Amino acid sequence: MSREIIQRRSRGFICVNAHPEGCRANVERQVRAIADHWPAGLTGLRNVVVIGASTGYGLASRIAAAWGFEARTLGVFFERPPEGPKTATAGWYNTVAFHDYARRDTLFAASLNGDAFSDDLKRQAVEVIRRELKPVDLVVYSLASPKRTHPETGVVHNSVLKPVGRPFSSRTIELDSEKVVPVTLEPANEKEIADTVAVMGGDDWHRWIRLLLEEGLLAQGARTVAFSYIGPALTWPIYRDGTIGQAKNDLDRAARDLDLQLTKRFRGNAFISVNKAVVTQASAAIPVVPFYLSLLPPVLRKHNLDEGCIEQMRRLFTDHLADGKEGPRDPEGRIRLDDRELRPEVQKEVLDLWPQVTTENLRSLTDFAGFQREFRSLFGFEVDGVDYDQPVETDLSW
Ligand code: NAD
Repeated sequence: MSREIIQRRSRGFICVNAHPEGCRANVERQVRAIADHWPAGLTGLRNVVVIGASTGYGLASRIAAAWGFEARTLGVFFERPPEGPKTATAGWYNTVAFHDYARRDTLFAASLNGDAFSDDLKRQAVEVIRRELKPVDLVVYSLASPKRTHPETGVVHNSVLKPVGRPFSSRTIELDSEKVVPVTLEPANEKEIADTVAVMGGDDWHRWIRLLLEEGLLAQGARTVAFSYIGPALTWPIYRDGTIGQAKNDLDRAARDLDLQLTKRFRGNAFISVNKAVVTQASAAIPVVPFYLSLLPPVLRKHNLDEGCIEQMRRLFTDHLADGKEGPRDPEGRIRLDDRELRPEVQKEVLDLWPQVTTENLRSLTDFAGFQREFRSLFGFEVDGVDYDQPVETDLSW
């Protein structure tokens, strides 16, 4: 037992602790967004594995599978448990809440905390699946990690967020000082590009699916999806054409290869879903993205087009993964959940505002305050309905 009043503690912009009740409220809101807004009569998935299941798109997809289809889920993630006076990470508390609500609603859930890149964690997952979740009909691959220890070589690869080929100059928000400042990013060298592809490319996804195939754990018609981002041209030098974009190209290659294997053996499918930009721990770390994410949401709200992770995943599951539903694909075979973000009228408004923003008008011309609030809420802070003056239990587990 460890009951404490938890105040947000930050190092620079990043929160270094998390609030269990705030995380619980976030999970509850997402559960309701699925349970209360699910089209009647949809059937589909029974056994779902989500890799990267504790925050962001992975958590939302796990919730959509569980409360939309009553699927049994295995979630894999890498989170820090509570330790003495230190709170756990937000993804840990999200998972505690996920299990509590799943138990309440008699949904089966299993979770594995550890390094998904490792052979050891993969073997543990195989054991759980063999016992509890066989045959798997969907694997969601939603890892976002700054580094990967290669399971064969032991080499630690660190990903970088840099342009490729030439420097990129733009403006960004210096998150600590809340200043709009010019930024020039030097291009990555060959090793940095290769390292980023090793971390965020398709190799690990490929290994997961190959293992599940070899172990005979996939269902007829099994599918697997990984997530990508394309975004508007103003972010391309750092995203689509940068090191992370190279990794996403490699993910595309893995999708094509896995698709061939799954189609041949199971009449299954592997594909990429290109999702919209949302505030997550991973996306806030990308230069220029906080600037973009301060401008985009108010424009989307004005057009009644705004979606968070859970609304995006609801659309993925209802329109593309339910029985008999095969939503549209782009010419490369990808699902495009970023269609609303990329509408010309939305992008025109963002582009018109972009050069006008200065340090002085940051809070009046953009929704930087909303970006900041949303970022803090990822850690369970500044969440509506939570009484932050009350002591809460931090020593929680599922
Ligand atoms: P996130 O940071 O919210 O979630 C990352 C997840 O990966 C967490 O569950 C974390 O525990 C897990 N993880 C990290 N390292 C791990 C490891 N070694 N072993 C096991 N688990 C590990 O990230 P997110 O923004 O939801 O991103 C998920 C995917 O969606 C990424 O491929 C990202 O590129 C893509 N995407 C994100 C956005 C966006 O705007 N956030 C947009 C489009 C696509």
